[in-house]
Amino acid sequence: GKRLIKGEPDASSFPSGGLRATFEARGYTAWDPTSYAFIKDKTLCIPTAFCSYGGEVLDKKTPLLRSVEALSVQATRVMNLLGYKDVTGVHACVGAEQEYFLVDKKTYAQREDLRICGRTLFGAPSPKGQELDDHYFGVIKPRVKAFMEELNEELWELGIYASTEHNEVAPSQHELAPVFTVANNACDQNQLTMEIMKKVADRHGLVCLLHEKPFRGVNGSGKHNNWSIETNTGLNLFKPGDDPFENTVFLLFLCAVIKAVDEHQDLLRISVASPSNDCRLGGNEAPPAIVSMYLGDELTGILDCVESGKKYFGAKRTHMQTGVHVLPDFKKDTTDRNRTSPFAFTGNKFEFRMVGSSDSIGSPTTTINAIVAEAFCEAADRLEAAGEENFDMAVHDLIKEYMTAHQRILFNGDGYSKEWEKEAQRRGLPVFPGMIDSVEALTTDKAIRLYERFGIYNRAELESRKEIVYETYVKTIHIEAKTMIDMASKDILPAVIRYTKTLADTIASLESVGADSSVSKTLLKDTSALLSQASAALEDLKQKGANGNVQKKDARKQAFFYRDEIVPAMEALRAPVDALEMKVDRSFWPMPGYADLLFEV
Ligand code: ADP
Ligand code: MG
Repeated sequence: GKRLIKGEPDASSFPSGGLRATFEARGYTAWDPTSYAFIKDKTLCIPTAFCSYGGEVLDKKTPLLRSVEALSVQATRVMNLLGYKDVTGVHACVGAEQEYFLVDKKTYAQREDLRICGRTLFGAPSPKGQELDDHYFGVIKPRVKAFMEELNEELWELGIYASTEHNEVAPSQHELAPVFTVANNACDQNQLTMEIMKKVADRHGLVCLLHEKPFRGVNGSGKHNNWSIETNTGLNLFKPGDDPFENTVFLLFLCAVIKAVDEHQDLLRISVASPSNDCRLGGNEAPPAIVSMYLGDELTGILDCVESGKKYFGAKRTHMQTGVHVLPDFKKDTTDRNRTSPFAFTGNKFEFRMVGSSDSIGSPTTTINAIVAEAFCEAADRLEAAGEENFDMAVHDLIKEYMTAHQRILFNGDGYSKEWEKEAQRRGLPVFPGMIDSVEALTTDKAIRLYERFGIYNRAELESRKEIVYETYVKTIHIEAKTMIDMASKDILPAVIRYTKTLADTIASLESVGADSSVSKTLLKDTSALLSQASAALEDLKQKGANGNVQKKDARKQAFFYRDEIVPAMEALRAPVDALEMKVDRSFWPMPGYADLLFEV
């Protein structure tokens, strides 16, 4: 029993960002009783927190649990002040929609890039992609349906329930949205869901790809983090009710979230940063790398009135007239949806859409809880100071003040457009195009103050996480570059050389009988030109240091070097190789292409 409660694994075999060296190996796991223990493959598994001998936190669960507590304390203060004395705690609730690709196992096995990096590093476009918009609403194929059914059964055994399962936009892309639950359990459940998806896919001769961008040119995968707060008395604090304009609780909490998001855009951005998510964010299919919030017309209208002091006359829900007698009339929502927004209000919850499909939802959820706890704390402090006589006025003033000060974060338009990027800059919103542009956000004074105040991370833990992010970036790109070098040197270039020899032989044979060899000659000339381009790019990539091991150096500097030198060099190699794939006789090409991968299942 004791050993279940406390364990002692090797804390040096885990990224610690300098907190732990190999000779300082002691680390502890501690049973998290708020998440269910479960049986997996005949083994009892206990959800645990993980810290080092010195007490520094190494995991994502401990900060999450701390943030959940901080949120609960601060939201309860506000609720008690607002007269809800029976509220003794709140839960952060999360439902993480999980997107994924399914590809055939045999095809997958022939792609070194997919096996090693989880994404294709080369690949000419398939003749058909997603341009017909025919996948999302298309029939779920029998093989995929069988996978989904078995997946459900496995998940049910662990108490994880899917509320929807469907095809996604790209060919071979799908989604599972679970029934939401309290944040800590939702994180554990999502972790299990990803693992079981892979396991079940394997039994169906499939491989589940969780990478954010397995294929260039079609949509990538994300994980929408649906987040809300519920009191112990069962009240959702973000439920607008019939008359949101008069709903003080809703307006106050809503405005506090707006303030939190505006003040900590950088922390939200870094909470979803990963080298794989870099391939997706801002890619015209996923939220841009700028954080903004969508509220929809109705709420924006209400808040405009609060700000200007005018009365709000409400948007009535109208009936949708289908014009067909046998179809039921139904009430239309008062507001549309905006799929391009990174942080959207969706009825009674917020949907944070920047999270990557392969990532844990731990960090983004911790971040949202923390920044919102801070805003609630400030609101509670202000309201406490106002005293009873001035209380109503103080609430009103606070809502108005937050709304006025944080207008700039609200954007209802098209987040994918170029105009928005310009407008965002005009508004002074930071743009973090790549993940490493946002890493320093972890250790600004503002961030340290926030996280230390609520005991979520201390300075050393933040420093270590920063180090881990830089290191992970460098190592991931390094592995990808080495994989490209391996594939290009051992498979692709040799195949193209064999092909050029065939062409040369053909030309010689044709000319020996006096036949026209012009077609083969042109093909040989074009192929050879691309071949030498590819070969030069390959040498350049090796030269830049992508060939050997990663040098132990200043992690930050190295990360920028990889972004500015290695990534462009990888691009320069990919371009001629993809052009060759469009030219070379299919029987020579050493691996299956995009059409095989995307349309085989
Ligand atoms: P949408 O169409 O907006 O994506 P869904 O109802 O399909 O809405 O919900 C998507 C995800 O959001 C599901 O995983 C669901 O469980 C979750 N969800 C719904 N309501 C809440 C809530 N109040 N808090 C957190 N997550 C929620
Ligand atoms: Mg959704």
